[in-house]
Amino acid sequence: MRIADVRTAVVEANFDWTYVRVYADDGTYGTGEAFMAPALTEVVRALRPILIGEDPRDVDRLWTKMRMCTSYDGGSGFSFHAITGIEAALLDLVGKSLGVPVYQLLGGRYREQVRIYADCHAGHGLESLGCVLERRQLPWMGVSESADIGTTFYDTGAERHVEAFEGKAYALRAREAADAGFTALKFDLDVPTPYRTDTHARRISNLEVDHLVSLAEAVRTEVGLDVEVAFDLHWRYDVEDALRLAWALEGVRPLWLEDPIPPENIDALADVTRRSRVPICSGENWYTRHGFRRACEERAVSIIAPDLQKAGGLLEGRRIADLAAAHYMAMAPHCIASPLGLTASAHLCAAVPNVVALEFHALDVPFFDELLVGGRPVISDGHMTVTDAPGFGVELDEDVARRYARPGEPFFEAP
Ligand code: MG
Repeated sequence: MRIADVRTAVVEANFDWTYVRVYADDGTYGTGEAFMAPALTEVVRALRPILIGEDPRDVDRLWTKMRMCTSYDGGSGFSFHAITGIEAALLDLVGKSLGVPVYQLLGGRYREQVRIYADCHAGHGLESLGCVLERRQLPWMGVSESADIGTTFYDTGAERHVEAFEGKAYALRAREAADAGFTALKFDLDVPTPYRTDTHARRISNLEVDHLVSLAEAVRTEVGLDVEVAFDLHWRYDVEDALRLAWALEGVRPLWLEDPIPPENIDALADVTRRSRVPICSGENWYTRHGFRRACEERAVSIIAPDLQKAGGLLEGRRIADLAAAHYMAMAPHCIASPLGLTASAHLCAAVPNVVALEFHALDVPFFDELLVGGRPVISDGHMTVTDAPGFGVELDEDVARRYARPGEPFFEAP
């Protein structure tokens, strides 16, 4: 069996869902998903010549070959998004050729049902971000509220009253997600408040702490203690300010507080984690076992959150999970993927012991379930079932995917 071709397609959803397909010389193929990045499909096409003619079953060796051929990227960065998507496609192809599900290639199954947590954003749901995190309006979206809150992820706004960022709206979103069967939720707390005056200072005032805590309390009051709730701060604060918020949130009993400070300084993160009684979660911006090593060794977080569409692949995800397990730490993978990428991540979550829950970030994407052949609900009762079907056990519905495909981008056509 030899690799005959590598092709890509991009669907414009709440993010650019980027697919990689590896074709074998017997006409079979596997499909993986990569975390968006500028010019990502160009990177995949650049890797294509070093893969053609190779045996797709040598997944780990091909991973190393791709890594060595992009070594100038420093062992992290966008090249890993491409490598990760290709690795997933290889595993899907190999699983299909052996007639086994991918979780068996990852060590076998601890669980059939993987718990999914619903990312609820704030009190509103629908927004779409391009690959430099610019807010964009797409034809399928209808009227978006995001125009109220700045043009990029960088502009969170200051001194604003936006209904979506009030406790009532948070409680409503929490109720909807809990009623849909989710037993774990996540909300953004780095949202515009009437009290923020300088978003660059990375400071938080007493009034702002109280306001953010009131949002968290609105969620907790609505869903009770049965439903676990995490809160995301998207790297907005300095150590002491993050801690003031963490201490004030203790009464809400968060599942975790995510990315309170930027991810680069492990010592500072360890300082936050040691002094907070709320579990701290980070890791969606770290790559490979090497990117997670110090965080685990220093116990700089309580829970790691690798993104399995970018951190280096599913075999690498297994190594990251094992590294965390060796330090008695749990994993809650970050995921902003389509149902295909979510399924791939669920295969790893089935195959490792130390999983809290896997993220689902597309509550408001109306065509999420339709993207897979069969169109059945991908998530039911807050869980995904990992089946015995070969590979990832799912296929893209190409008619649906094509409807939302990025204009001007190949749709699995030969380069
Ligand atoms: Mg996050």
